[in-house]
Amino acid sequence: MLPEVLISEVGPRDGLQSVKATMPTAAKLRWIAALHGSGLREIEVASFVPARLLPQMADAAEVVQYALTLPGWTVMALVPNRKGAEAALRAGAHKLTLPVSASEAHSLANVRKTPLDMVEEVRAILALRDELAPTAKIEAGVSTAFGCTLQGVVPEDDVVRLAAALAAAGVDDVGLSDTTGMANPAQVRRLFQRVRAEIGDKTGAAHMHNTRGLGLANCLAAYDVGVRTFDSSLGGLGGCPYAPGASGNVVTEDLVFMFEAMGVRTGVDLQKLMAARAPLAEGLPGEPLYGMTPDAGLPKGFAQEVAHA
Ligand code: ZN
Repeated sequence: MLPEVLISEVGPRDGLQSVKATMPTAAKLRWIAALHGSGLREIEVASFVPARLLPQMADAAEVVQYALTLPGWTVMALVPNRKGAEAALRAGAHKLTLPVSASEAHSLANVRKTPLDMVEEVRAILALRDELAPTAKIEAGVSTAFGCTLQGVVPEDDVVRLAAALAAAGVDDVGLSDTTGMANPAQVRRLFQRVRAEIGDKTGAAHMHNTRGLGLANCLAAYDVGVRTFDSSLGGLGGCPYAPGASGNVVTEDLVFMFEAMGVRTGVDLQKLMAARAPLAEGLPGEPLYGMTPDAGLPKGFAQEVAHA
């Protein structure tokens, strides 16, 4: 039986770029192999950004090339601009994800461009894709879609308009990210429905954070309105800088447990997934890992029928 939801593991990118320590390349590759072995079928493995800004990602091309040797999954890379996109496409990434902030204040502070100016950058990246690697897919991830620590409220109309502009520019899909952990389930349901009404099947992943404990509730709300791709991070790696001690990304183990317990197939073997925490812990000694399911263990009588795609 085929999986019904796609769990997109973002730990090697979102997680590793948020922690201070740099995981040695060999340890990253062992961890990525363990993630692949658990049945995950999509992974974000690196960011293509200058090494002086993010030394954790200096080996991005090597990590992408290794991940490409593992069969049957989509290897993604985050790129902030054209230069990063070129490097990621040349490394052979199957899919690029481009963060575009819906918050004007956040966008200006980070990239000195308005959200709609960023759509121009996205167009340029799409042209580059057509030239260098026409089969590669491009996803835009609308960050701060549910609120912004600089601006506060991000009007839903701004998010919907930006999603429509990105879809019109030609991206393959548009995801919504709760970058700052401010989303609630009612808002998630409403905004994904509005975006879907505007861009239909180009509606992409839910990238939720657990900063205020609502990560899984928000994923379930997104599922209820038709979202089928969910970003999460093994061990919740990627602490939120705005709430020290709090987990940032949704914990993959808990997300997979939730869906499997509901009878929604993920294709991921929970035992193998939890075993993938070992190479992560070895590569990042002392880094806190989160997750209620790994702490509690699987409940007595829990039987998982793992689908193989
Ligand atoms: Zn995240």
